[in-house]
Amino acid sequence: MNLSHRITHITPGGSDGWEVFYKSRQMIADGVDVVELTIGEHDIRTDPIILDAMHAAAKGGHTGYAMVPGIVALRDKVAARLQAQSGIPTTRDNILITPGGQAALFAAHLACCNEGDVALICDPYYATYPGTVRGIGATPRPVICTPENNFQPQKADILAASEGATSILINTPNNPTGVVYDAATVRGIAEAATHADLWVISDEVYDSQVWKGAHISPRSLPDMADRTLIVGSMSKSHAMTGSRVGWVAGPVQAIEHLTNLATHTTYGVAGYIQDAALFALNQGPAFEAEIGAPFKRRRALAKSVINGQNVVKMINSDGAMYLMLDIRATGLSATDFAYGLLHAHHIAVMPGDSFGQAAAGHIRVAMTIEDTKFTQALETLCTFAAN
Ligand code: PLP
Repeated sequence: MNLSHRITHITPGGSDGWEVFYKSRQMIADGVDVVELTIGEHDIRTDPIILDAMHAAAKGGHTGYAMVPGIVALRDKVAARLQAQSGIPTTRDNILITPGGQAALFAAHLACCNEGDVALICDPYYATYPGTVRGIGATPRPVICTPENNFQPQKADILAASEGATSILINTPNNPTGVVYDAATVRGIAEAATHADLWVISDEVYDSQVWKGAHISPRSLPDMADRTLIVGSMSKSHAMTGSRVGWVAGPVQAIEHLTNLATHTTYGVAGYIQDAALFALNQGPAFEAEIGAPFKRRRALAKSVINGQNVVKMINSDGAMYLMLDIRATGLSATDFAYGLLHAHHIAVMPGDSFGQAAAGHIRVAMTIEDTKFTQALETLCTFAAN
């Protein structure tokens, strides 16, 4: 029987560029003690107080169908959080609760792109972006963000790529680079999007993990709220990756449009999970800061290791749970470097090529293991790079 092109087309050729990661997983399954610096998953689990809230909600009977756009109290809370961040008036009518950020990315593209449309994505990108765009029947077109510009998208490059495009997908704080877009970058994105009449899909799932400066959403800029869809999630901010709860925030009409989609796809998110998400958000910004604190600390540890040698360079990154290291001075490709490190020292990192073309010659390191092991792994990585 034939299967649909729409889905086989998500990863053309069957490869998603994550071979080094799969190899490390295979080694772990074979019993090798691999130091895993690949995946964006905290080294802590969801806080027991959130689990207690989830359990109480389930025991209290919140196990039936929940409202499709999301329970009112959670939508109000997400709206208030976004309004506090951006100053832009936001109500529950601007919020759709989704089963995680990934579903929100898919929905956001479906909200604004038609089949055959071109959707811009900033490269380097979170690995699923091109597949998400292809999955909704549109065509991804990269906007290359260069190391010279510290991987921040430039207005001129967006405009140059924008011919016939419908949307642009941006991500700040960024995965894989850890870069936080500065005010000039966000202004440039807003100006380019307005000029080229693009929707901006702004993936802000790391919005609580900013170590210097502030998170700036394009939605907060003048006249941008009507063309911006924010993708948010509880996964990274509250260590709730497995609970699958996130949101799309945007103009009321777009949220109504997406509620219709959700009625015919997910039919909402489990009520007890939404209650737990509400409880978690009610713990306030200090709770989120505490969850992000290990990444801030490890970034500082990484800086002191990297500063002690001159082969590997650390790019300027002020957020998220990743470091991007420039390994071009080794003369190795990022893939050869990652395989070499994995085989010689059982340390798994992601080659930049897994995240598009712009991060070739770089590797991504997830700061998701405890401090001492993390520091030792980076020291070994630097020694490997020097030899
Ligand atoms: N967006 C970015 C940039 C990510 O890094 C991730 C996960 O790693 C997601 C979205 C999806 O997160 P989730 O579906 O767990 O909310």
